[in-house]
Amino acid sequence: MKFQPVIGLEVHVQLKTDTKIFCGCSTSFGSEPNSQTCPVCLGLPGALPVLNKKVVEFAVKAGLATNCSITHRSIFARKNYFYPDLPKGYQISQFEDPICQRGWLDIEVNGETKRIAITRIHMEEDAGKLVHGDIPELEDGSGVDLNRACTPLLEVVSEPDLRSSDEAVSYLKQLHRIVTWLDICDGNMEEGSFRCDANVSVMKVGSEQLGTRAEIKNVNSFKFVKQAIEYEIQRQIDLIEDGGTVVQETRLFDPTSGTTRSMRSKEEAHDYRYFPDPDLVPLVIDADWVLRARHELPELPEHKMQRFITEFSIPEYDAEVLTSSRSLAEYYEECVACHHNGKAVSNWIMGEVIRGLNDSGLSINDCPVTPHMLGELLKLIDNGTISGKIAKTVFDEMWKSGKRPGVIVEEQGLVQVSDNGAIEAIIDEIMAQNAGQVAEYRSGKDKLFGFFVGQVMKVSKGKANPAVVNELLLEKLKG
Ligand code: ADP
Ligand code: MG
Ligand code: ZN
Repeated sequence: MKFQPVIGLEVHVQLKTDTKIFCGCSTSFGSEPNSQTCPVCLGLPGALPVLNKKVVEFAVKAGLATNCSITHRSIFARKNYFYPDLPKGYQISQFEDPICQRGWLDIEVNGETKRIAITRIHMEEDAGKLVHGDIPELEDGSGVDLNRACTPLLEVVSEPDLRSSDEAVSYLKQLHRIVTWLDICDGNMEEGSFRCDANVSVMKVGSEQLGTRAEIKNVNSFKFVKQAIEYEIQRQIDLIEDGGTVVQETRLFDPTSGTTRSMRSKEEAHDYRYFPDPDLVPLVIDADWVLRARHELPELPEHKMQRFITEFSIPEYDAEVLTSSRSLAEYYEECVACHHNGKAVSNWIMGEVIRGLNDSGLSINDCPVTPHMLGELLKLIDNGTISGKIAKTVFDEMWKSGKRPGVIVEEQGLVQVSDNGAIEAIIDEIMAQNAGQVAEYRSGKDKLFGFFVGQVMKVSKGKANPAVVNELLLEKLKG
């Protein structure tokens, strides 16, 4: 029997606002426990929430960038449950009428484009955090840190349109790129700023009816999402083939074993008793606001990528790498503004720049070689001042010293030798020293040509113009 996996994702995106969603407390990460709290986020009775406008702006941006409709009048609801990290006894979220609805994202898998529908995006507050052991004041036991309580989140819910772990990862990467591109989320998955619940089911191939799903909670890396989904698909297939049935339940992924295990079944699941929060008025977003927001949206990655391909004549692969983040794309654009050969610039960024960043652990924003410096370097190659090989040395030196390429070339005497006389002299000397090889070459051993080129380059310390060297060598070796 053949099975078709079906996956729907719920992604939590922590918004990069300075303050929390319903109070003025700071959202910064890693502070002293409970130092960023007030009566509102501590859930003290009588404290009233006030909606952070920035959160709405960010939600609208996310909605527009994912092709959603923005709801004119959306409401906040209370999601009731008890947990020690939730002092109010409910989480403020959106249930009916969320801020964004019916969008989509195009993903790329195995060279094919597929459209994944987004059901909704809603705003909500995060809960606090339980800390176990490791607390000096408590000796042993657990504590509650409410710094994270009331931190703004977006929850992005997809339709069950994904059909493999690869599609799920591609969708997640696409969404991750968009929210970081919009600068509404720092994208830090280790700190939980971007995490996902994966709903997984399997059905018989050709069936119209979706299978029963299990929901894997809070997976926080692309690799783990892939592992968790693949494990879960196989677990469900094995279960069905053994005559069992999949039950609807919440499961946890254990990265050490690569497996999922049951956390609670549907029967034990909460009935959250959602109802509209009476402390918050409905949020009305007028059409002008949405229009303005749409106007202010930056050029999105997909669009930029297509434009790079046509405007700068670079292959799709290059354009994809260069638009993997907005900063990198902007770096490329600034370079191309100084030096118009789009492909040459792309080669240098994809080669030397990215390698340098990886080796040093720096981000493109802190790249010691500015777009302008790289542009100048490429000009020096183009106008014959230095060879491509020497340019690599100059690049390394720019990276270390921050000096401009022209200065480095001057200081270190790296100007390329294109003068025929000087190169001819070197060639004559080498031919005299290697009479044996010259004879072999002349008797048909063409391969030796490379040897001569190498010798000339060595003697000239890499400074001889390769094109001139080739031309003169060919001529002289002919005899
Ligand atoms: P809940 O609020 O209980 O999590 P939802 O109806 O909001 O339930 O669905 C949550 C997610 O589950 C959505 O992303 C949806 O696409 C996905 N989903 C629903 N049915 C299935 C299914 N049969 N298989 C896989 N995913 C599913
Ligand atoms: Mg769910
Ligand atoms: Zn607060």
